[in-house]
Amino acid sequence: MTIPLFRTFCVIGPGLIGSSVLRRLRTDPGLVDRIIVADRDPAVLERIRCLDLGDIITDDIPKAVAEADCVMLCVPVGAIAPVAGTILPYMKPGAILTDVGSTRRSVVDALMPHLRDDIPYVPAHPMAGTEHSGPDAGFATLFEDRWCLLTPAAKAPQEAIDRIAAFWRAMGARIRIMDVDHHDTICAMVSHLPHLIAFTICGTADTLAEDMRAEVLDFAASGFRDFTRIAASDPTMWRDIFLNNSDALLGVLDRFSQDAAAMAKAIREGDEKTIVETISRGRRIRRSLLENRQA
Ligand code: NAP
Repeated sequence: MTIPLFRTFCVIGPGLIGSSVLRRLRTDPGLVDRIIVADRDPAVLERIRCLDLGDIITDDIPKAVAEADCVMLCVPVGAIAPVAGTILPYMKPGAILTDVGSTRRSVVDALMPHLRDDIPYVPAHPMAGTEHSGPDAGFATLFEDRWCLLTPAAKAPQEAIDRIAAFWRAMGARIRIMDVDHHDTICAMVSHLPHLIAFTICGTADTLAEDMRAEVLDFAASGFRDFTRIAASDPTMWRDIFLNNSDALLGVLDRFSQDAAAMAKAIREGDEKTIVETISRGRRIRRSLLENRQA
């Protein structure tokens, strides 16, 4: 018989990420003894009830966390610190607080003043997702072979870090532990900038003259279609990510703008060498992504 990682595990905000965690827990019932799911929205809770993803399903968030050995916040980045501030007074001494937020520095800075000495805080960002949101969007294999980046608070005991790492390994993920600011710079490059570009390209297409816009949609099978998938993501979640990771994001955007300007110059001047080199770099990156099982 396997020993459960947590006796009572609580998810707050069972959307795409939270409900994927819950689905995975249902496929491996030995991981935790009891699942509590909490949300402020009765419609979300009703869906969780229909999908049978929790043992206790409630809108009473303080009561939900009082019995938990681990509380995982799966709410948008901007809501993590306010929700943590609300629940921390009710948590059991020694229970672990974790979240799945896509940005770190501003969340940690806002949350730290509320943190109790007897509550280890071990955030873990799964580098997995889709453009869909809500409890129906989740699936049990979402984290399979994906990276999960842990950014534990300096005071978090090793035992708590090990348990959160073991939890995410059980979700199918690979673990990397890193510093908060490093996390934000990496994520600005691999996730936040690509989303910014996708939203912007769709915005540019949308402002084209009527007849041209219709043709963009007709002939979208070329590169444009791939951008529209990313650009279909949730506005609240991405507003929060952009505003909460603004320094790192503006840094990589600046770098990208310089590279785009260099490419424009090469095209203007017929500089074949630079054009071919830039395209070849893209092909190399795609190949290493495939080799690394991340594509
Ligand atoms: P989602 O599907 O929109 O789910 C968010 C959930 O949080 C919903 O159930 C929402 O319900 C609830 N919620 C929002 N504000 C709340 C509040 N103040 N109090 C209580 N519940 C609240 O979002 P998601 O894609 O799962 O993202 C959740 C977190 O994971 C975010 O921090 C995001 O940055 C991170 N993340 C997302 C991805 C991705 O690709 N989607 C990947 C990795 C990490 P109501 O609004 O109906 O109350």
